[in-house]
Amino acid sequence: MLKITGTGLASANEVVFHGSFGRGDDEAVPVSSGSDRRAQARVPMGAVTGPLTIATSEGSESTPTLPVAILPPPPPAPNPVLSPVPGPHDAGAPDVETGTSRTRAFVGARKAVTFSYRVSGAAASALTVQLVRVSDGVPIVSWTPDPLAVGEVQSVSWDGRVDNVAAEPGRYAFRLTAASATGASAQSAQTGDLERDAFDLYDHIFPVRGKHDFGGEGAQFGAGRAGHSHQGHDVFAECGAPMVAARGGRVQFKQYHAAAGNYVVIDGAGTDVDYVYMHLAEPTPFRPGDRVYTGQPIGSVGETGNARGCHLHFELWNKPGWYDGGKPFDPFPALEAWDGWS
Ligand SMILES: [Zn+2]
Repeated sequence: MLKITGTGLASANEVVFHGSFGRGDDEAVPVSSGSDRRAQARVPMGAVTGPLTIATSEGSESTPTLPVAILPPPPPAPNPVLSPVPGPHDAGAPDVETGTSRTRAFVGARKAVTFSYRVSGAAASALTVQLVRVSDGVPIVSWTPDPLAVGEVQSVSWDGRVDNVAAEPGRYAFRLTAASATGASAQSAQTGDLERDAFDLYDHIFPVRGKHDFGGEGAQFGAGRAGHSHQGHDVFAECGAPMVAARGGRVQFKQYHAAAGNYVVIDGAGTDVDYVYMHLAEPTPFRPGDRVYTGQPIGSVGETGNARGCHLHFELWNKPGWYDGGKPFDPFPALEAWDGWS
C-alpha cells in the first residue's frame, strides 16, 4: 500500500507508476483519498521503480515525484528440467511433462526463454502451446507443433516479441494442451495458476555486471563540467567489470574520443532511445551496423579518455538520436529500476 500526503488530494482519481522511460511499463491504479491532504493506493504487481504522478478525473496531473523504489515481485517457482504437470487430465489422455528454461527473461535477448515438453503414456494427436499473459489470462502467442513421438522432447523458444514488437514487461506463462486421438486431453496447468512454467519479462538489464555504486553529486546528470554539463550518469565499478547491452539494437558508432575514451552508441530496438557507453577499457568488438542482443557483453568498465576512476559513463538520448537532433535525458531513474531486478 502506498500512502500519499500532499494538498488537493480530494480530487485525486488515479496514481500512475511511470517506472523506467517509455510507456511500456506504466501502471495506473485508482486512488482513494480520505481527505485533501492524504490518500492511498495499492501498488500493482507490475509496478517498477520510478516516479509517480497523481491524476484527477478531469485529466490534470501532478508533477512527477522523485523515483520511488519498488522491489520486484518474487520470481515464480523455477522448473528448468522436465517435471510432471499439475494441470487437468482426462482419463486416457497423454501424460505430460514440461520445463521452462528461466524465471526471468529480457526483451531483445538472443533467446529470451525456452519451453520444453514430453508426452508419454497415450500418444498425442494434437498439441497446442500458448504463451499467456498472467495478469489477465490472455494468450498472446500460440504454436501448434506437429505431434511428437511418445517419449521425445520438443521445445519452443520465445524472444520477447509479438509480431516483431516487444511485448510489455510482466509475468507470462507457457500452457500446453495435448489431446489423444479419442479427444481426451491433458493441460499443463490449471487456469489461474500463476507459477507453473511462468517467468517475468523485463525490458532492460543493468549494464554493469558486478559490484557498483552510483557515485556522488558529480556523477549525476546535469552536474557541472568545464564548459558544459554532465550528459549522463556515472556508474562506478572495478576496472574490468563486465559490461552488457542494457537493451539490444543496432550499433551506430564505435569510436575513441579524447574525453569519452572508447565508446559505443547503440540504437535500442523498438525504444526510440540511443544508449551510450563511455570509458570502456578496450574498444567494443562490435562494429557499426552490427546487431547486439539485450544482455550481450559489449566490453568492460575502464577509465579511458578523461575519467577519474573506472566507471561507466552512461547516457540515454531521445529521438531522433545521439547528436542527430535528439536530447540526452537523466538516465538515473532507469538505471535504478534496472538495478532493482537485474
Ligand atoms: Zn560521466
